[in-house]
Amino acid sequence: MIITAHSSHGSITFGSETGLTLESNLCGCDDCPQVERFNIEEYCTHYGKGVPQDVDILDLGYWGKDGEYVEPAHDWRKDVAKLRAGLPLEEYSAQIKVTSPQIKPEPDLHEVAMIAAIMGDSDGLDRLYEFVQHNRDAGYILTIDIIGGWAVEFYQKYKNTNWENLLEDPVKVGFSSNVCCWDDAVMEFAEQKFEEYKK
Ligand SMILES: [Zn+2]
Repeated sequence: MIITAHSSHGSITFGSETGLTLESNLCGCDDCPQVERFNIEEYCTHYGKGVPQDVDILDLGYWGKDGEYVEPAHDWRKDVAKLRAGLPLEEYSAQIKVTSPQIKPEPDLHEVAMIAAIMGDSDGLDRLYEFVQHNRDAGYILTIDIIGGWAVEFYQKYKNTNWENLLEDPVKVGFSSNVCCWDDAVMEFAEQKFEEYKK
C-alpha cells in the first residue's frame, strides 16, 4: 500500500511496509522535510495498528536524508488524542475561535456529510490546512474541525432554501453570479468562511 504523509510543505508518499519515500511533492523551501524513511514500527507500536493511507507527518518519526532521526510530534499526538476523546484543548481554545453551531437532534446527517465532503474536496482545504499550520500552530484535526463547523452552518442556513429560486439569482443572497448549482454554492460558502477566518 502507498501512504501519503501530509505537511504544510506538501505531501510525501511512501511504502507502508518499508517506510521508504517514493515521491515528494513539497514546496521546495529550506524548511521542507527531507525524509529518507518513515518509522512505521514506532507508529504501529504506539497506536497498535498500521499507518492509515493518509497521515499527518507530525504523527510519524522519520530518518532524514542527512541521517538524523526526527521524533514524531509527541505533544501534537497528545492534543489529537484529547480531541478524539472529546476533551477540550485549553491551550487552543484561548487563541482559536472555532464556531461549531450545535446540530439539531434530527438533522439531515447525510446532507451535512455531503456538504463537508464537497468542502473537504475543494482546494480550499489545502489552503486552510496551510493557514492553520502556519498561523494557529495546529494541524489536520483542527482543519477538518473547522470544515465540519462550516458544513453544519451551511446546512442550517440553507436547509429551507428553494434552490431553484436561489440559483436563478444567486447574487441576491450574497453568492457570485458564477454559482450555478448547489455544490458551487457550498464551495463558495467555504471560500467566504475562509476569508472571514483569516481576518
Ligand atoms: Zn517547504
